[in-house]
Amino acid sequence: MTGVFLAADVVNAASSSDPLQRLGEAFERHEIRGREALQLFVDGLLDWAVCLRGVFEGVDARARCDEVNALLATGASKGVYLTTHDGLDPHLHFAPEGDGLLARVRAVTAGGLAIFLTESRGARLGVCSRRGCGQVFVDVGRNATRRYCSTRCGNNDAVDRYRQRA
Ligand SMILES: [Zn+2]
Ligand SMILES: [Zn+2]
Repeated sequence: MTGVFLAADVVNAASSSDPLQRLGEAFERHEIRGREALQLFVDGLLDWAVCLRGVFEGVDARARCDEVNALLATGASKGVYLTTHDGLDPHLHFAPEGDGLLARVRAVTAGGLAIFLTESRGARLGVCSRRGCGQVFVDVGRNATRRYCSTRCGNNDAVDRYRQRA
């Protein structure tokens, strides 16, 4: 599940006021190896974030799959394999472990989104409904009815709508 949450974090970091800082935090949270070299790859990561956002903005399952296929063509072009590195349970890798930071982030986000969409029936990815927010999210709730990136955005949006009516 790392890949899909990392994908959302990268998209949100890229559109934040301090992308470098936020990307660093995301890579730490997801234990991405080689993150010390982050600064060298920032431009490539910001470009990749734009591609990732396309998946979250997809209007339906078909559109999201098309977006992920485009990501896989770049991010997983060297093939897929199972690994048990560092004593972890078997999981899929989409790039050789010796690849650089950018290549591995592309691979794990493209692959993670692909796996997620097979489990989520093409849904459960979205963009916050509060106008002007733009943050993306992964919906792991039971009913797949999430519309906001955070409770705060949900509450603020409710207040805004109440004021508009009043
Ligand atoms: Zn791994
Ligand atoms: Zn929001």
